Amino acid sequence: MSEEHKMSLTSKVLIGLLLGTIVGLAINVLALNPLGGFIDTYVVNGVFYLVGKMFVNALKMLVVPLVLFSLICGVCGIGNINTLGRVGSKSFALYMLTTAIAISVAIGIAAVTGIGKGMNQVSDVKFAGADAPPLTDVLISIIPTNPVQSMANGDMLPLIFFSILLGISMLMVGRKAKNFIEGAEIANEIMMKMVNIVMAVAPYAVFALIAKSMAELGIDLLAHLAGYVGVLVGVLLLHLFISLMIVLKVFSGLSPAIFLKKIRNAQVFAFSTASSNATIPVTLRTVTKRMGVDNSVASFTVPFGATINMDGTAIMQGVATVFIANVYNVDLGLVGYLTVILMSVLASIGTAGVPGVGLIMLSMVFAQVGLPIEGIGLILGVDRLMDMIRTAVNVSGDAVVSTIVAKGEGKFDKSVYLDPESGIIDTEEAIHIDEEVEKELAEAIHKTEVTK
Ligand code: ASP
Repeated sequence: MSEEHKMSLTSKVLIGLLLGTIVGLAINVLALNPLGGFIDTYVVNGVFYLVGKMFVNALKMLVVPLVLFSLICGVCGIGNINTLGRVGSKSFALYMLTTAIAISVAIGIAAVTGIGKGMNQVSDVKFAGADAPPLTDVLISIIPTNPVQSMANGDMLPLIFFSILLGISMLMVGRKAKNFIEGAEIANEIMMKMVNIVMAVAPYAVFALIAKSMAELGIDLLAHLAGYVGVLVGVLLLHLFISLMIVLKVFSGLSPAIFLKKIRNAQVFAFSTASSNATIPVTLRTVTKRMGVDNSVASFTVPFGATINMDGTAIMQGVATVFIANVYNVDLGLVGYLTVILMSVLASIGTAGVPGVGLIMLSMVFAQVGLPIEGIGLILGVDRLMDMIRTAVNVSGDAVVSTIVAKGEGKFDKSVYLDPESGIIDTEEAIHIDEEVEKELAEAIHKTEVTK
């Protein structure tokens, strides 16, 4: 293929997103999708489901080894426990700050618009809530009793804790651990390569994921809940384009326009998978290769953010609380709203970035302020689409904070940030095997066999 005809992966993924939306909506609007019908069974819950699910599995497959190796490299790369502590506390503070801004703005705007007033509708959809885990449990669970089990479960905070401690111990062992550290570096590079391979099929997978979601979308519900959906999407966009960009500019001085352009790929993956956790490999790749954040910072801030930073989810909680309080005619008062803010920020720390977890967190908030949990049934039908949008916002927040912290620590390559071409993946390149390298490797293996 000639140079001019090559298309970057991002463009292909965006085309997949667009086509998936059109096909999914067409299936939905034309009512081609009766439950149990041919399209429902073989297309939406057949091919689309299969392709999408396999891809999300492939992304999840990368998360644990990638986080483990990149964090070991990150810790050894920083090489200084004080700096490590500073990166940790700065990112924690910024994550809390952006989440607090998000939910405060959400409650403010939702209260002013008065959404849900006079709706007085009781839902017959049941939603089983969850109780907030005590803060002590959240803190205790950071330390794994068995790191292998935490890895098997994909629990991020214990994995982060163990990997950091492992990295620190390697540094302390010093020269003797050199080979191990180098091994981790090579393993990290191999995992990054694996990210590229998995991403090469992303355009088709994104198509399947979006087409399935759109085909199953409750369009009639969207219209019915127009007030809630409109305010929620409005505040999410406001946070993404205004609040987060102000934070980025103020704390790092970097151009928001470049940031917004470069973050697109990660946003599309977050949108399609509705999971910050599954998007970790893409976010990590985007902030390191496209934005110039050093792995020593990103390897920590990205998985940490995917777990504890959920601006979009906090916004949903703020808007949903006001909406449902209005529907049920409950006056929460200032103390009630302050409790909601505090609870949302805390709930985001203890819960993982996986699809639908926002609703579970919302039920914890409701239980705390005394709103009826069954009210959540009202917004259940539109939650998948809202989840997709808020996950894109969550991941953008992780990238903003990663960039700010890296810039502040001098672990940032501005030339990468400014170069529009940096880190762009070309699909053929992603899965290309260099013949020269292959030959060299075969020769090297042959030589070791001969000398044996
Ligand atoms: N799906 C979101 C995430 O992974 C969490 C949520 O709001 O449900 O970040």
